[in-house]
Formats: sequence, structure tokens, C-alpha cells
Amino acid sequence: MTGRTLLPVNSPRQSIVLCETFGPTVQGEGPSAGQHASFLRMGDCNLACNTCDTPYSWDWNRYSRSEQTRRVPPEQVAAELLQHPTRLVVITGGEPMMQQAQLAPVAARLTEAGRRIEVETNGTIAPESAFDRHISLYVVSPKLAHMGMPQVRRIKPDVLAVFQATNRAVFKFVLDSPQDADEVAVLQEAYGLERVWIMPQATTATAVLDGMRALADTAIERRWNLSPRLHTLLWGDERGR
Ligand code: SF4
Repeated sequence: MTGRTLLPVNSPRQSIVLCETFGPTVQGEGPSAGQHASFLRMGDCNLACNTCDTPYSWDWNRYSRSEQTRRVPPEQVAAELLQHPTRLVVITGGEPMMQQAQLAPVAARLTEAGRRIEVETNGTIAPESAFDRHISLYVVSPKLAHMGMPQVRRIKPDVLAVFQATNRAVFKFVLDSPQDADEVAVLQEAYGLERVWIMPQATTATAVLDGMRALADTAIERRWNLSPRLHTLLWGDERGR
């Protein structure tokens, strides 16, 4: 890609609400688990899952927005990430797609520098071309009923169809128990989802292993993929790993 220019950044609307950047580390989840990676965690989310493992990035009733986030120009975000010598950059949150317009120049700078970008999203906001053209993989994580929100809020069929049509999306479901598998199967059938991954809801190494053991046979029987949470296995709930 050539001739791309960075957006001016002197307007708050064009700055990024950033929770944290960190790395180098390894991607803990999904198809790229184990890969050398750096992370960009965005502030704010359009959902409110009751078992969210990163509430500090969006729950301003429990955390201080001014302490947990900062407004940063896109080129500064790109510069922070390019300090990390990783081929893979994971954009996560919070919900990254809420800020895809501001992220487009960051993604452009990263891909120009040879980075591969993976986006972790809840699948409720469709990608737009200015951002989408730089993204190698979407790890779309539609939320199940156990997350405590009505389906109309957490499942957006038209948006899931857009992600599916990119052919650069996998669908990763967090299960509270093997009983949640039927709900995943209904969504998979209803929306024609391919490339399904399941992963246990867990915040300790013991719970990750127990959860993966409980889900393994289900994943194999249903021809799904099983994701670890390597960061939890290795470092518990330590931030920035
Ligand atoms: S969509 Fe993700 S970041 Fe947002 S509340 Fe749910 S689990 Fe947390």
C-alpha cells in the first residue's frame, strides 16, 4: 500500500481512547495462541458482560476512566507498538471496533512496517473499509446468554454476516460449561458460522485446565476448535502479559 497519509491528530475526536499497550508477549487465545505478539488494548465497550475479564477497560462504575485510559494521537499509538519487535499485533479491548475510524491510520502504519494485525471483537459492530483493509484476522467473540445481556443486544446477525463474508474471521465462544455448547450450535447453524472455537470461562490456571478438560470432548465431537488461555495458565490474572 502506498500514498497513505496519517490523519491530523489535534482533535479529541481523532485521538484514541487507549487503555494500555504491552509486549512482547505471546497471544494467549484463539488460532494464534502461542505466537510472539504485542497488544493494544482499547478503552470503552458497547456491551457489559457480567464475567468480563477486563472490566478496567470499560466499567466506569467500578474503575476510574481517567486512571485507566488516556487519549493518544494515532501516530503515538503506532510508535508505541512499533517499539515491540513482534510480527503480530493484537488489537483488543474493551471493544476495538468502536474506534475503528481512529485506528485506521494506526493499522496503516503497522502494516506498512510489516506487522500482521489481529482484532479481537464482540462482533456487534461491522468493519469499514478504511480499517478492514489492514486486518489479517478477526477473532469474533459473540456473547452467550450466561454473559447476562439480552440476545438482541449481544447478537447482531447482519454484523456476523459481514465478518463471515470477510473470510478473515473465526468465531470464538466463551463457555461457562459444556451445557453452553447447544447455544453455540444454534448460533452456528442460524448464521452459518465457520471456523468455530470454544474456550472456557476461567481466570485461574486451575480453572482453565479444568474448563478445557470439560470442553475437549464437546469440541472434538462437534468439529470445533479448542482454545487455551495461555496467558492465564502462565501468569494468572497479571495485567500486561
Ligand atoms: S464485550 Fe468483551 S470487553 Fe466488552 S464487556 Fe464483554 S467481555 Fe468485556
